[in-house]
Formats: sequence, C-alpha cells, structure tokens
Amino acid sequence: MSNAFWQTKTLEQMTSEEFESLCDGCGKCCLNKVIDDDTDDLYFTDIACRLLDSKSGACRDYSNRFSLVPDCVKVDPADEESFLWLPPSCSYRRVREGRPLPSWHPLLTGSKAQMHKLKMSVAGRSVPESRGYGLVERIVSWPLVDRD
Ligand code: SF4
Repeated sequence: MSNAFWQTKTLEQMTSEEFESLCDGCGKCCLNKVIDDDTDDLYFTDIACRLLDSKSGACRDYSNRFSLVPDCVKVDPADEESFLWLPPSCSYRRVREGRPLPSWHPLLTGSKAQMHKLKMSVAGRSVPESRGYGLVERIVSWPLVDRD
C-alpha cells in the first residue's frame, strides 16, 4: 500500500485494500438513524446495530455483515446515496469532499487509541437494539461532531 494514497487517488481509483483501510472503524455508521419524512433530515441515535460490539465499537462479523443485516449500507463511490448515511467525520466523506484525513485517523497515528480518546468513535457510547428503545427517544448529536 503506497503512502498517503488518499491524497493522490479518488475513492474510485483506490484498490480494495486501500479503500478498506480508509475506514477509521469509528462505528458511527453502525448506529440506527431516523429520517424526518417531511424534511428528509437525518438524525443519528445511539442505538447500535445488533452486530456492533458496544465496548470496542467494531462490527462483530464484518465479513458477513451484509447477509446478516440486510439494510447495512455498503459505501460505494458509484452510489451517491450511500454517502448520505455517513457522519461528517467519516473518512469516505472527507476524501470525497476534498478534505484531509483528521489527525486522529488510524492511518496517521497507527492505532485507534487517539480516535477513542477524542471520543470520535462509538466505543462505550451506544445502547443495544435488543433493549427495545424507540428511535426518537434516543436521538443524539455526538455522532455529528467532527474534529480535525
Ligand atoms: S462512519 Fe465511515 S469511517 Fe466510520 S466506521 Fe463507518 S464507514 Fe468507517
């Protein structure tokens, strides 16, 4: 993998290995979301997908996620709509919008520690779907926070 490929390639030009490595693993896209039917505004909740490990913020079955959770969104550079579900801090959104990766990104720091420390991931901040919460009662704004 070449260094800083995200500065020289578009998402479409990246190899699948590069594309995968661009994901910071924040887990924010694994939170349930609500769309306001009248305004089309998107809201994040802190209710986690059933595959999300709430402690680490990682998917517990990443390779099988699409078969186990049919509405899991696949980020696809050719599918504009797939980006609508991503938080502002998402690396795929950042690169697509011509923004640099944040200083806490694991590709720059070598680990997820700084991301977790700055609370840019869902680790330890979500509630499980199985508790049966209503989506609207669990709307939160912290997934929308972005930091350079
Ligand atoms: S929000 Fe983006 S960077 Fe974070 S886990 Fe999801 S796809 Fe990866």
